[in-house]
Amino acid sequence: MPKLPTRFQRFRTGSPLSFRLLAWILLFSSAFTLIASAIQIYSDYRKDLSQIDSRMQVVESGYASSLARSLWALDQKLLQTQMEGILSLPDIVHLRLGIEPDSELVMGEIPRGADTRSHKFDLIHQGDEKLKLGELTVTANLDRVYEDLKLKVGIIMATQFLKTFFVSILIIWIFQHFVTRHLTTMANYAKDFSLANLSTPLTLDRPDTPSHRNDEIGRVTEAFNQMRERLSNDMIRQERDAAEIHKFSKAIEQSPSSVVICDRQWRVEFANHKFTQLTGYDGKAIVGRNPGALSDNDLENRENRHLWQSIRLQVQRVGVWQGEVNSSRRNGERFWEQLIVTPIKDGAGNATGYLILGEDISIRKRYEQQLLRQANYDILTGLPNRMLALDRLKLALAQARRESSMVGVMFLDLDNFKHINDTLGHDAGDNLLIEAARRISSCLRGTSTVARLGGDEFLVILPGLTGPESSSQVAERILNTFGPAYSLNGQEVFISTSIGIAIYPTDSDNSGTLLQHADAAMYQAKHQGKSSYAHFTREMSEVSHERLQMESRMRRALELQELELYFQPIVDTATGNLQAAEALLRWNNPVMGMVLPDRFIPLAEETGLIIPIGEWVIEQACRAATDWKETTGLDIGISVNVSPRQFRDPGFTNAVMQALSNNNLAPERLELEITERLLLDNSSETAEILKAMDRAGIRLSVDDFGTGYSALSYLKSYPFDTLKIDKTFIQDVTKAPEDGALVRAIISMAHSLGLTIIAEGVETEQQTHFLKQEGCDFAQGYFYSHPLPEKEFTEWLKSNNRIPT
Ligand code: C2E
Ligand code: MG
Ligand code: MG
Repeated sequence: MPKLPTRFQRFRTGSPLSFRLLAWILLFSSAFTLIASAIQIYSDYRKDLSQIDSRMQVVESGYASSLARSLWALDQKLLQTQMEGILSLPDIVHLRLGIEPDSELVMGEIPRGADTRSHKFDLIHQGDEKLKLGELTVTANLDRVYEDLKLKVGIIMATQFLKTFFVSILIIWIFQHFVTRHLTTMANYAKDFSLANLSTPLTLDRPDTPSHRNDEIGRVTEAFNQMRERLSNDMIRQERDAAEIHKFSKAIEQSPSSVVICDRQWRVEFANHKFTQLTGYDGKAIVGRNPGALSDNDLENRENRHLWQSIRLQVQRVGVWQGEVNSSRRNGERFWEQLIVTPIKDGAGNATGYLILGEDISIRKRYEQQLLRQANYDILTGLPNRMLALDRLKLALAQARRESSMVGVMFLDLDNFKHINDTLGHDAGDNLLIEAARRISSCLRGTSTVARLGGDEFLVILPGLTGPESSSQVAERILNTFGPAYSLNGQEVFISTSIGIAIYPTDSDNSGTLLQHADAAMYQAKHQGKSSYAHFTREMSEVSHERLQMESRMRRALELQELELYFQPIVDTATGNLQAAEALLRWNNPVMGMVLPDRFIPLAEETGLIIPIGEWVIEQACRAATDWKETTGLDIGISVNVSPRQFRDPGFTNAVMQALSNNNLAPERLELEITERLLLDNSSETAEILKAMDRAGIRLSVDDFGTGYSALSYLKSYPFDTLKIDKTFIQDVTKAPEDGALVRAIISMAHSLGLTIIAEGVETEQQTHFLKQEGCDFAQGYFYSHPLPEKEFTEWLKSNNRIPT
C-alpha cells in the first residue's frame, strides 16, 4: 500500500482541481472555525473573570462589617477564622490585611509568575463616627481560568478539525464522482480527438437522463458532440469541394480548348496543356507574363499590343470579348484561333482575374477559304464557275453600258467529249478538260474571263469589243488552239470545240438572254459540222426553243403512249431462215410526226429520260417475243439496243431480269446490243454487269462495230456472243475492195474469237452473196425487211418467215 505522502502527491497531480478545492475548503473552514472558536473562548474567559469579580464583591459585602468588628474588638482569633473562610473561596489565594496605623496581616501565598487579579476594600467601624480600621486586599489566582481555556481550545480544535476533514472528504468524493472524472473523460476524448475518429461521439459514464443532459457537464458534452458533428460535416463538405476542385482542374487541364487564367493585372497565372500544344509555350514558363507579349520577338509583341489593348478595354466595358485571331506559335508559325475572353468574378461581382479560352480553327478557316473558292471556282480547272461567270458578265455589261462598248459572250462545248469520257474513262476526260481550259485561256486577253459552266461547257466573256468581227477572231484563235492532238493515257486524241457567240447589245442587253443566245448559236455551230463557230441569229432562238420543246414533249411521251417498237428481222445468211428480230424505237408525236431514234435518243440520254424509256423498251420487246411464240409458234430471239447511260444505271440489271420473268422469256432469247463506246472505258463496273448478264444466260452483242475504236482486245475480255458489223462497211462491200477486205478480216477475226457475225444494212442481193461467201452468219437490212410495227411484223412472221435466198 502506498504511503500517505505518495497518495497525496498522486491525488494532487491526478486531480488538481479536487486538490485545489480541498485546499480552499480547508483554508476557509479552518479560518472560519478559528474565528468562531476564538470568539467563544474569549466569551468564556470573560465569563470566568466576571465570576471572580463577583466573588470579590461577595467577599467585600459579606466580610467587610464582620472583619471590621473583629478588628474593633481586636479578636485576633476570629479575625483569623474569618480570613481563612475567605481564603477557602475558589481561586482566592492571597489576603493582605492592613491594620491602622501600620501593622499588617498576610495570609496565603501568590505562586510565582502567576497571573492574578486583586480587589481592595476598607474596613470601617460603624459607630457614631466612622473610623477606618484597616483595609483588606484580596488576590485571586487566574491560572485555573487559563487551564480551563486551554482545555476548551484543545477540544474545539480537535472536533472542528475532524468535522472539516470528513466534510472535505465527502465533498471531494462528490466532486470527483460528479464532476472531475467526467472532466477527465472529456480531456482524454479531446486529447485523442482526430479526423480519424470523427465518428465516435463523446459519452460519459453516467445515465443519460434529462437532468443530466441539462446540467453543465451535459451541456459541455453536447457542445463537444455538436462540434464533432459540425467538424465532420465540414470535413465531408471539404472533401467534396476538394473532389470538385480536382475534377474541375482536371477538366481544365485536359480541356480540348486552350485555357489561360490571368490575374487582375492580366498576368498569366495558369495555362493548360492544350495551350502548350497549340502555341508551343510552356505553361509554367509564361506565368507572370502578359498574354499579348509571350513572344521573345519584340516586333510580334508590338503587333499584339494593339489587339490586346482593345480586348482588355472591351472585356472591362462589355464583360466579354470574342473573335478570331491570327496568332503565332512559339516557332513563329501562324495559326487561326477563336478566342473568348471573360472576367472571373467573385461573389460581389468584382473581377479577380480573366479567363482566355482558345480554339484552333485553322482547319475550319482553311475549309472556309476552300468553300469560298468552291463557291466561285471550278475545282478541276481552277476557272471561275457559273456563278462567278454570271457575276462577271453582269459587271461587264454594266461597264459596257456606261462606256457604250460591246461585250462578246461565247459559249463553248467540246465536240464528242462524252465519247472520250465514255471510252477513255473519266480521268482522261478530266485531264482533257484541264488542258482544254488552259488552251482556251491562252487565247484571251487579261480583261477577258473564261469560265467552266459544267461538264464540257465553257463560257468566255469578252468585254470592250469594238465589233462582232473581233469576237470571230478570238473564236478562230480558240479553234486553232484545239488543232494539236491531246495526249491522254498515252494515246493521241484529237478534239475540237463548237463555239456560239452572242453580242451585247446587238443580240440582247440581258445577261441571261445573252447566254441562251450564245448556247443556241453553239448548237448551230455543232450542226454545221463541229469545230466551228456561229454568231447568233434570230432563227436560232427558234431552234433552241424547238430543242426545249422536244425535251418537254419527250417527258410526256411515255405516259401519252407515243412510243412504239418496230421490229426488223435478222436472218441466217446461208439459209435465209429467220433467226431473231431487233427492236427499234419510234416516237409518234402528234406534232412532230414520226421521230427516228437518231434524233431523240441523244436528247433522251442527255436528260436521263433514256432510263424509263429503255426499261419500257426491254419490257415491250420481251413481251412481243413471248407473244410471237404464242401466236406463231416461232421461237425467235429478240435484240434490244442499250445505251451506255442506261447500262450504267444501278437499276438496269434488275429491270432486265424483271422483264424476263414478267414475260416468262428464256434469257438466251434476249440479246442486248451495246455500242463499242461503252466498253472502252474499261471499268470494272461495266465488266461486272456484262458478266452478270452472261451468267444469267443473256446474249450480248457489240453493235455498230467499226465506227468506234474497234479495239479488238476488249472482245476477248468480255463475254460477247455476237458482233454486228456497221452498215457503213456493208454499204460499199461490193464496190470498194478495201471495205470488202475489211469485212472479210472482221469476219475471220470474230470467228477465231468464237463470235457470231451479223451484217447490218444489207440492201442488195450482191451484198448477201458476198456475205454468204465470206461465211457471215447472219444479216439484217432492207433487203430482207424494213423495220415494221409489231402488228405488221407479226403478220409478216405468219406468212413469210423464211426469206428466199
Ligand atoms: P442500230 O442498232 O444500228 O439499228 C440499225 C439501224 O439501221 C436502224 O435505224 C435501222 O432502221 C437501220 N437499218 C436497217 N436496215 C437498214 C438498211 O438496209 N439500210 C439502212 N440505211 N439502214 C438500215 P433506226 O431504227 O433509225 O435506229 C437508229 C439507231 O438508234 C439504232 O442503230 C440504235 O443504235 C438506236 N436505237 C434504236 N432503238 C433504240 C432503243 O430502243 N434504244 C436505244 N438505246 N437505242 C436505239
Ligand atoms: Mg442495234
Ligand atoms: Mg447498228
